[in-house]
Amino acid sequence: MEVLKKIPLAGPVLNGNERKYVLDCIDTGWISANGKYVNEFETEFARFCNVEHAISCANGTVALHLPLVAYGVGQDDEIIIPTFTYIATANAVKYCGATPVLVDCEPETWNIDPAKIEEKITAKTKGIIVVHLYGHPVDMDPVMEVARKYNLFVIEDAAEAHGAVYKDKVVGSIGHVATFSFFGNKVISTGEGGMITTNDSELAQKMRLLRGQGMSPERRYWFDVVGYNYRMTNLQAAVGLGQIENIGWHLEQRRRVAEVYINKLGEYKELFTLQPEMSWAKHTYWMVSVLLTDKVKIERDQLMKLLENDGIETRPLFYPMHIMPPYFEDSSYPVSDKISARGFNIPTNAVLKDEEIDFICERLIYHCKNNA
Ligand SMILES: *Cc1c(COP(=O)(O)O)cnc(C)c1O
Repeated sequence: MEVLKKIPLAGPVLNGNERKYVLDCIDTGWISANGKYVNEFETEFARFCNVEHAISCANGTVALHLPLVAYGVGQDDEIIIPTFTYIATANAVKYCGATPVLVDCEPETWNIDPAKIEEKITAKTKGIIVVHLYGHPVDMDPVMEVARKYNLFVIEDAAEAHGAVYKDKVVGSIGHVATFSFFGNKVISTGEGGMITTNDSELAQKMRLLRGQGMSPERRYWFDVVGYNYRMTNLQAAVGLGQIENIGWHLEQRRRVAEVYINKLGEYKELFTLQPEMSWAKHTYWMVSVLLTDKVKIERDQLMKLLENDGIETRPLFYPMHIMPPYFEDSSYPVSDKISARGFNIPTNAVLKDEEIDFICERLIYHCKNNA
């Protein structure tokens, strides 16, 4: 058989105006945090998410930290998060000296189980961070309901879900605040970068202040609070503007890729299932994810090794927070434990060719059948 070159899991596609805008930054010398692209990227992103305010920042992790600081989260506070997430969600809480309180995920969407939030609320709970995992939106209505009942804020960690839709609302416009990442492997990228969206003008103002070292907007080089340098540069925003102008295309291509996978892999339910798309959801397919059934007799990591030998890059699903040393708990979150141990991401990027997807499916089916 002809040897194919390695098929990467993910990667940025910079095929719009990114190059032109970056060269403009260099030609004009506007390479730092001031410059027109920062404003234009924020304006376009706010429009895309249908919100009043979009605040760019250095990455998706500090995008989570800023609203927590703006809400005054500190020691003795508790923030509810899903255990099944990327470490940044938990770390942002820890940066404030607060405690992340973990909740298991749902077997259907793999997202935080809204029915298990209430039992984790205490007098110390200040807010909830939900995560639209791998691009599938969280079932937000019951989350917002429990938040209203206990007067909690809700942050959507939408780092993986630019353009995902819950019922008729685009993510980023449902909670009180939402955060996005533009790391190199995300739906759209600025290399490193982040964005916060909100309709809360007072909160937006606080976050802008905190992002720029806390410098008073009325008096230059006067600081009433301890802030941070969490700014995005004009260079990053130039890339981001090129990306957001084209996000419709990026999302269409990801859907094309996912649909081929679903068509080819959907009939092997006794061997594996894919993270589904609920009837009320529009998935962005940041990563198409496979979950092995018990019928496949080898370990997930062994199967990934076989695919690697075929030149197919994969990635294990996130390890749940409760097994990580900084957040270790001697308790079981059975749904997350099971999905995390038996699931992995397969190549999902906007320029994946149909022949490549066919090859990936063929090898995946072959190895699973061979080990069933
Ligand atoms: C990528 C990611 C982040 C953090 O983004 P960075 O830009 O890498 O800091 C936060 N939360 C989730 C769920 C992510 O996937």
